[in-house]
Amino acid sequence: MLVKRGDSVEIPFSLSPAGCCKPLFTYAVYDSLLNHSRSNRMTQSWGYAAQQSTTPLAPFSFTRRDPKEHDVAVEIEYCGVCHSDIHSTRNEWGNAVYPMVPGHEIVGRVTAVGPAVTKVKVGDRVGVGVIVDSCRTCPSCKAGEEQYCEVGATLTYGAQDKYGDLTQGGYANNIVTDEHFVHSVSTKLDPAGVAPLLCAGITTYSPLRHWQVGPGKKVGVVGLGGLGHMGLKFAHSFGAHVVQFTTSSSKIADARRLGAHDVVLSNDPDAMNKEANSFDFILDTVSAVHDLNSYLPLLKRDGVYCQVGLPDQPPTIFMGNLIFKRRLLSGSIIGGMAETQQMLDYCAEHNIVSDVEVISIQKINEAFERVVKADVKYRFVIDMSSLKKQ
Ligand code: NAP
Ligand code: ZN
Ligand code: ZN
Repeated sequence: MLVKRGDSVEIPFSLSPAGCCKPLFTYAVYDSLLNHSRSNRMTQSWGYAAQQSTTPLAPFSFTRRDPKEHDVAVEIEYCGVCHSDIHSTRNEWGNAVYPMVPGHEIVGRVTAVGPAVTKVKVGDRVGVGVIVDSCRTCPSCKAGEEQYCEVGATLTYGAQDKYGDLTQGGYANNIVTDEHFVHSVSTKLDPAGVAPLLCAGITTYSPLRHWQVGPGKKVGVVGLGGLGHMGLKFAHSFGAHVVQFTTSSSKIADARRLGAHDVVLSNDPDAMNKEANSFDFILDTVSAVHDLNSYLPLLKRDGVYCQVGLPDQPPTIFMGNLIFKRRLLSGSIIGGMAETQQMLDYCAEHNIVSDVEVISIQKINEAFERVVKADVKYRFVIDMSSLKKQ
């Protein structure tokens, strides 16, 4: 089906002001759609997919578009396992479209480029993150904040792209995507450790930079998982005094090793009370519903609470916790493409990677279960060469 300006198309969950956790929504076709017909899908791919919300991931073969003018084809070496992959494949946010190949923490080598590509060349090591397209013309896109694209950025998997194809993610042998959404990765860094930077890294780097976390600031990180441990590393690296909040006493020593100046067990009310009115900024990375009312009072006057974790249910907030100290509750999602490159370059310069447990693709369902139990130190990363054993 060809579309024309003004048509309405149904787009499953993409990053849009309409938000997630909503039924399918529609938006007017934007200009870039007008220049394309549906793609040629001749690139053979295979990976692991969910066929529905209640079944385990299993081998799946499919096709992707052939690289177009501005496209880059990547052979995937490693893909991180984000909690969002679990929320999505299990349809915890609603709107899941199957079959779904998850994965948006992708590192690999370029195998082909379209004729107009200038950013990378065949053989380069590159990364692909959470989004693979946006309109490029709205104020957010023009400001380099493609993740806030006003007509909806296209998610790496589970979304409909401008060609009408369903996007499929990085638990696969390859991916084809526009060069604007491909990032250069330093060969100095361990590629398995780099993969989680493409989501967990940028999702924590961006708000810490936006809210100017640095020397003289007291910063809290809530939850020591994939995002949390990257937030901790970055906040430490930026020179802040960092306090890690965790529900897991088994993670206290690790939190200190990863850069925490102090560690607070969030299920100990006395320990929490001692921290009241003392934080400039708190970054909340928790994946499950939890009581924000026990964290908001820890902020100083005008302190900022930033939510990046996205549980499937909304919190209940006592507004007095905001009103009485003019505290600010905010949120943030990944980062723009230029900022993602800046983050990767910062990591290369400062030798920062994720702490990973590398697994074969055959272990993915077990890994999902362990992530849900907060039993991962601190990111599973799939070695995609294991697909060849299939
Ligand atoms: P993760 O590795 O599972 O880490 C979440 C951590 O939250 C756990 O390790 C645990 O840390 C803590 N936790 C889990 N259940 C809890 C509970 N019931 N009460 C309190 N703490 C609990 O997940 P992740 O991959 O870092 O992702 C975290 C969340 O961010 C997910 O909801 C994900 O979808 C979302 N996300 C958002 C963005 C964005 O752009 N905003 C990007 C990526 C992911 P402790 O053991 O230390 O307590
Ligand atoms: Zn993610
Ligand atoms: Zn846009």
